[in-house]
Amino acid sequence: MDATAHFVLVPLMAQGHTIPMVDMAHLLASRGVHVTFITTPANASRIESDIQRARGSGIPIWFVSLRFPCEEFGLPPGCENLDCVTSREHAVAFLYACRTLRGPLTSILRQQNPPPSCVISDTMQYWTADMARELGIPRLMFSGSGGLFHLFRHLFLQNKSNDLVNNGAESVVLPGFPHHIELTRAQIPGSLFLPEMAKFREEMMEEDCRSDGVVVNTFSDLEAPCIDQYQEVIGKKVWTIGPMFLCNRDAAYIAARGNKASIDQAQCLRWLDSMQPSSVIYVSFGSLARTSPSQVIEIGLGLEASNCPFLWVIKAGNRSAEVETWLSQGFEERTSSRGLIIRGWAPQVMILSHPAIGGFMTHCGWNSLLEGIAFGVPMITWPHFAEQFLNEKLIVEVLRTGVAIGVKTITPWQADKDVVLVKKDDMVRAVSRLMGEGEEGEAMRNRSRELGHKARAAVEEGGSSCENVTLLIQQIKASMKPAQ
Ligand code: UDP
Repeated sequence: MDATAHFVLVPLMAQGHTIPMVDMAHLLASRGVHVTFITTPANASRIESDIQRARGSGIPIWFVSLRFPCEEFGLPPGCENLDCVTSREHAVAFLYACRTLRGPLTSILRQQNPPPSCVISDTMQYWTADMARELGIPRLMFSGSGGLFHLFRHLFLQNKSNDLVNNGAESVVLPGFPHHIELTRAQIPGSLFLPEMAKFREEMMEEDCRSDGVVVNTFSDLEAPCIDQYQEVIGKKVWTIGPMFLCNRDAAYIAARGNKASIDQAQCLRWLDSMQPSSVIYVSFGSLARTSPSQVIEIGLGLEASNCPFLWVIKAGNRSAEVETWLSQGFEERTSSRGLIIRGWAPQVMILSHPAIGGFMTHCGWNSLLEGIAFGVPMITWPHFAEQFLNEKLIVEVLRTGVAIGVKTITPWQADKDVVLVKKDDMVRAVSRLMGEGEEGEAMRNRSRELGHKARAAVEEGGSSCENVTLLIQQIKASMKPAQ
């Protein structure tokens, strides 16, 4: 009899890493395998509706909530997600605190029936590799990012070629890449090179290389050249199975994906329905990027001057008395006929899938890019940090489905200073290029639409990602030991 495979998913507790792994849990469960999804109490409360739904409808996903040791690591109570972390020291403490989950998790997994057949864990949860070895099962590596960044990480960290950041050159063409990609020194994904992360980085990369394969949330038509090259340099199987979020069509899940939305779903849809097709620019910078009050105000001025309908997300971490005062002193009134602000968590996938959305001003987080791509939405790219400048190159130069806002350097993560990197006029220019009548915008819209078709085809029956999920499950089943 065919034994049931049982996948254990261990995400990094950060929205851009956890959300795609919840999608992965649904994707695997929809293929009849068992899934255990590891979370912590504060993170579980964000996906409560999902947990309840899985329980209620018998979807074979077990959400296991493990106590997170905030106190022992000097973290504030409830600081169980990277989006709650406010300093570099806390970020490092947070990553090390994750490792203490190993003991409790191993005990739980030892008692499960069917027993686990493999672990898929975030690259930063590399301690799970030791655990998998202890349990005698394979460990596959996942990270929230796309093929381009996987290749970058491998070439520049594994091969210790940090000459790139140390050689003093103003800009560099990335060697060993299938596309021509030139980054300035200031745009190189920097946090990976922080000195206090050296040991963590080394151990993480070592385990990437020892992993039994890599799962990437991308699709062949989007990134085949990068993935082929990555597969070659890392010397192991890479499964591209995205865009994973497309596997879940449940409207309630989509509206509460990642967290409870800060806007009523019906109100949001009513507003979108009242707008012309492809007329609205959606502005959101993911879960981690911080924006100074002066920059938030400048964004507002840009949106107003662009004359374009907009749906603007101001996340909780970017709200301040200064911003609220400014918004209430005429901005909201002046733009009320064509603008909607969501303060807090937005139902992003629900929004991007709406026909009224004609453009996406994004920080180029991988998930956001993939979501925009899948719905055929062209973008205005405004990278903030991490691998976002690489992702911008993919959109603007390789795929040519977006325009760059023109930001040249990383936005400091702890941007408590009054940083304004993008001016009102930069916004007006970018919005008009993307959303305007010109040929350039039209061409980008056409290319985006075409790519969206390919993204959706990848996850349909017979599509490359759909086939890869089958192969992945087959491979894990083949590795399972016969029941005693
Ligand atoms: N997201 C959302 N609502 C928000 C902000 C973000 O649903 O208000 C989701 C978004 O759809 C994406 C994830 O959170 O799936 C953010 O991941 P991404 O890689 O884009 O950026 P990060 O937050 O990691 O910088």
